[in-house]
Amino acid sequence: MPKTKKVGPTRGLGPRYGSTVRKRYTKVITELKRPHKCPNCGFVRVKRESVGIWKCTKCNYTYAGGAYTPTTKLGVIAKRAAKGFPAEIKKEAKAAATETATEEETE
Ligand SMILES: [Zn+2]
Repeated sequence: MPKTKKVGPTRGLGPRYGSTVRKRYTKVITELKRPHKCPNCGFVRVKRESVGIWKCTKCNYTYAGGAYTPTTKLGVIAKRAAKGFPAEIKKEAKAAATETATEEETE
């Protein structure tokens, strides 16, 4: 009698690498594969072209983003800094970094 086949991004991994790592992998990969909203035309058609490169399949708008998500907290801060609000950077970058570290710890 065959067992029920489990589906999901980790289906090819079997029991390997440990449950914590597999859960973290699932979280990242589902976010990666989900269609994202295009900042140019507004349609939910953005897919990852390569690591950090995101492309809209509707209007062909290509832009740089995070490795696994189109936008990252630190990326938002960097963009704001590039536009010329340097005063807030240190505090917010530190807060975002701390938050990310906390998220990883609780996983
Ligand atoms: Zn678009």
